[in-house]
Amino acid sequence: MRLSTITNWAYGATVALTLASGATMLMASGAEERERAAVAQRATFDQATATLEEDVYRLTEQARGFVISGDPSHLIAYRREKGALKSVKQRVAHLRDAGANESELAALGQALHWSDALTDEQDAAIRAAQAGDDKTGRTILFGDEYGRELDRVAAQVGKFQYMLDQRTDHAVSRATDTARQWRTMSEVMLGITALLFLCVLYFVLKQRILRPVVSLSDVVTRLAAQDWDAIPPDSAHVDEIGDMAQAIRIFRENGLERQRLEQERDTDRTMRDLLSRLTQRLQGCDSVHDLVEVVRRFAPEIAPDFPGRLYIHDARRNAMTQACDWLAPAYSRKEFAPSACWALRRGQTHRPIGEMVDIPCDHLDATGAISTICIPLAAQGESIGMLYYEEPVHANASHLERTGKYLEMLAENIGLALANLRLRDVLRDMAMADVLTGLPNRRQFDIMLQTLVNEAERNLSPLTCLMIDIDHFKRFNDSFGHDAGDAVLRAVGKVLADALRENGHAFRLGGEEFVILMPGFSLDQALGRTIQIQRSIQDLRIEHRGRELGAITASFGLATFPDHGRADRLLQTADAALLRAKAEGRDRVLVANVRDGATAAA
Ligand code: GH3
Ligand code: MG
Ligand code: MG
Repeated sequence: MRLSTITNWAYGATVALTLASGATMLMASGAEERERAAVAQRATFDQATATLEEDVYRLTEQARGFVISGDPSHLIAYRREKGALKSVKQRVAHLRDAGANESELAALGQALHWSDALTDEQDAAIRAAQAGDDKTGRTILFGDEYGRELDRVAAQVGKFQYMLDQRTDHAVSRATDTARQWRTMSEVMLGITALLFLCVLYFVLKQRILRPVVSLSDVVTRLAAQDWDAIPPDSAHVDEIGDMAQAIRIFRENGLERQRLEQERDTDRTMRDLLSRLTQRLQGCDSVHDLVEVVRRFAPEIAPDFPGRLYIHDARRNAMTQACDWLAPAYSRKEFAPSACWALRRGQTHRPIGEMVDIPCDHLDATGAISTICIPLAAQGESIGMLYYEEPVHANASHLERTGKYLEMLAENIGLALANLRLRDVLRDMAMADVLTGLPNRRQFDIMLQTLVNEAERNLSPLTCLMIDIDHFKRFNDSFGHDAGDAVLRAVGKVLADALRENGHAFRLGGEEFVILMPGFSLDQALGRTIQIQRSIQDLRIEHRGRELGAITASFGLATFPDHGRADRLLQTADAALLRAKAEGRDRVLVANVRDGATAAA
């Protein structure tokens, strides 16, 4: 049952009891009134009859006095008393009007009747005395008969008074009892009303005031301690406590909003710090490998619940290939053609979300409703890579939106860094590559030699250096022109580039001199590969402007670490062997010997 229903019932009961209590009080008051009326009636009766007996005696005395003394004053007094006796009769006649009942009036009537008889006798005695017959008068008034009649009148008056006493005593006691009962009942009703009123008051105080106030006080204390889980009770009452609960609710909502904004600001600051650190690290990257490592570390920090993958465009195969991934993305393939991604096609972020109608990318294996984000990495209008993310299933919209912005910033930074690295690579390649043959040049050879020498010395692994010099090259220039010489250089360069599967290990040192570095090759393996190269060069047939340039041969000097001395003198040792090959008649392969090593070391 609702609180309001209970209190309404209680209010109703209290009002009803109050009315009933009022009614009983009125009844009690009426009963008291009746009690007072009964007492007053009795007083009236008493007053009306009290002198009746005395008057009879006084008349008797005056009549007797006159009969004995003959004093006329007695006669005058007698006549006056007799007149008074009449008025008593009249008053008694009024007793009927005052409420005396028939039997009482009959008793009184009898008394008056006998009193009249006495008066007649007194009159007879007085007349006898006036006639001078004192004796008869005395006989009448002092005789036994008169005495008995006098007693009889007194007894009859006493009887009448007794009857009156009986009746009025009874009426008074009944009225008193009734008044007392009503009074008691009124007091009980008043007591119950007061009790009920107190109960209602207690109930209302406890339910409506005490309990909500205690609860609100508890909530306020917790909210003051920044415990935002404290929820104010939902008071629907339109009263001060309801207003207070509403105010506390608004205070809590403001607090929560403030806390949310602070958290967002903190998260934003953290993210911006992270992105700034990422940018610095990306700027410090020397290679794509470095960049991939940085992305692998930072990406899951920036979006901790977004599995993802970094793709980098492989120009040779025109494919987007995985560079790294984090948090195990499930749906996108590790390699795909750029045309399979809508983000790459349109050059802007593609984000088909859940059930929304959009075109999922072809590089996704999933068929169900999944939310993915593809952000292209572009440089000078060219797609150089792509950042791919899978959105967490149960994240809220604001989290997704905020993280989406960070991912865009991340992609922008990565794209910029990747573009810089690409540009640097192109510039370095341009600086390191030989324009004519496309082979790495002397500068790159020096760097590579240093690296491989260090590795070989550290690991004690074999490293072979093969020096190549085209025989009588000058002759091509002289006989067919400089362009023909260039054509020969390009052809030989291609043979050398193709000779080794590993890239970047054949170099043009300058002029018509080349060198090949073969890390991990034993001397025998290197020799075998050299002879293949020698044959390939011998097999070259070059036509320039319709003219056959003739046979091309080259001389080869081969030196291997650790077989032929120190690794850092490998080039010189091979060069010494090459010189010997030239000296011994060209078009041959000579493996370095101890003397070559010694020459190189000198
Ligand atoms: P050897 O058998 O002793 O090595 O004789 P060679 O003629 O091959 O050697 P030499 O050092 O006498 O001649 C090298 C010539 O290569 C000299 C130079 O003019 C020519 N040359 C150097 N660089 C280029 C180039 O880039 N293109 C052309 N066409 N010729 C070049
Ligand atoms: Mg030369
Ligand atoms: Mg030469």
